[in-house]
Amino acid sequence: MIVIYNNRLLRFLSPWFPGISGITLFPFIILRKEIRGTAEAHITINHERIHIRQQVELLLVIFAVWYVISFITGRARGLTWYESYRSIIFEREAFDRMHDLDYLKQRRIFSFMNYRKKFW
Ligand SMILES: [Zn+2]
Repeated sequence: MIVIYNNRLLRFLSPWFPGISGITLFPFIILRKEIRGTAEAHITINHERIHIRQQVELLLVIFAVWYVISFITGRARGLTWYESYRSIIFEREAFDRMHDLDYLKQRRIFSFMNYRKKFW
């Protein structure tokens, strides 16, 4: 994985989420430059590394299609932007486990499937 701190690139890749700390497009993790060297960076990188693992497991394309369809479905169900984003199965796993910096060492393949149950 390659970590890049670049606010402009981050805004370009996620214009709908101005407050976002990072985005992952295998093998790149793009982060907001203000978080470099902070405790938040470790957690955000861990969050994004979970996405890298998911993307590899789903050959990137399946991940991307699933992610977008899931987001659109959430919006169609009447969820807000933020709720739709947080309800995506991949985000649920990443947000749930990002504080456990050892998570990826023992994570099993397709573990995001444990997060199928909707909470909205
Ligand atoms: Zn995420």
